[in-house]
Amino acid sequence: MPLQTVSKIWMDGELVDWADAKVHVLTHALHYGSGVFEGIRAYETDRGAGVFRLTDHMKRLHASARIVMFDMPYTVEQLVEATKETLRANDLKSCYIRPLAYLGYGEMGLNPLPLPVNVTIAMWPWGTYLGDEGVKHGITAKISSWVRPDHNSMPPQAKSTGIYLNSSLAKVEALKAGYEEAILLNPQGFVSEGTGENIFVVNEDVLTTPPTSAGALQGITRDTVMTIARNLGYEVREANLSRADLYSADEVFVTGTAAEVTPIRSIDDRPIGEPGNITKEIQETYANIVRGKLEKYDDWVEYVS
Ligand code: PMP
Repeated sequence: MPLQTVSKIWMDGELVDWADAKVHVLTHALHYGSGVFEGIRAYETDRGAGVFRLTDHMKRLHASARIVMFDMPYTVEQLVEATKETLRANDLKSCYIRPLAYLGYGEMGLNPLPLPVNVTIAMWPWGTYLGDEGVKHGITAKISSWVRPDHNSMPPQAKSTGIYLNSSLAKVEALKAGYEEAILLNPQGFVSEGTGENIFVVNEDVLTTPPTSAGALQGITRDTVMTIARNLGYEVREANLSRADLYSADEVFVTGTAAEVTPIRSIDDRPIGEPGNITKEIQETYANIVRGKLEKYDDWVEYVS
């Protein structure tokens, strides 16, 4: 689906018109994948637009920047304020928000040290990432032949633009083979995550998700779901999973800001089935929390006005 445009994009401290938010073709990040970014969602609430865990996302952007040695020109607080300012300028009630810090224009070559770090915050209305059907009935997934990069080749803990070529290869492979999403294993052969989501399995009343040491991103939805599940009385473990653990699980779902909580209904043609009760309970609780409907979790919703 083509992007639904809005009025303004924040670029290095200024609100510019959507159509003018451009960069030079010799921007370093275009050539070398030298960017770090975030994906955030704002939801419509009774108190206007509420951005889910905005500060936590900006903290993760800063953490990614530290890993790749970018000198961030804006503090977490300034980025939070800039996001709210852009939301107000676009008069959006709900949307997807994409902050990006990238090495800009000035020199070419692999030495990034002399280059400026530019920062933009764009946003646009975005529906379900893995489709309405997927949210309701679950998606089909395939274990990818592409492997998640090792910690010592490309740190999966940094949400860097370059590493998404790995995700993209896996996504295309899965789509071409007739599946909706890919699950990547790490070089040791354990499950890491989806192309843009973390993964959970449910057995009896226990949820298990791979640790970040397995190459999984420290997902904010993952953390949210772990908290929700524990508060609902379920045990949550971080442990290595094999592909067979996915095939034999009672329930499997993926989590992400874009994907929210999406059930998986089959993996490598082994049926998991329609979304299970625990998946549905967590999905529903998550949907209520992000819309500011559960007071207990209200600290996570950052209101714009
Ligand atoms: N893993 C990867 C590779 C991702 O791109 C994302 C989306 N940012 C996630 C996991 C989920 O992270 P979050 O819940 O913070 O959106």
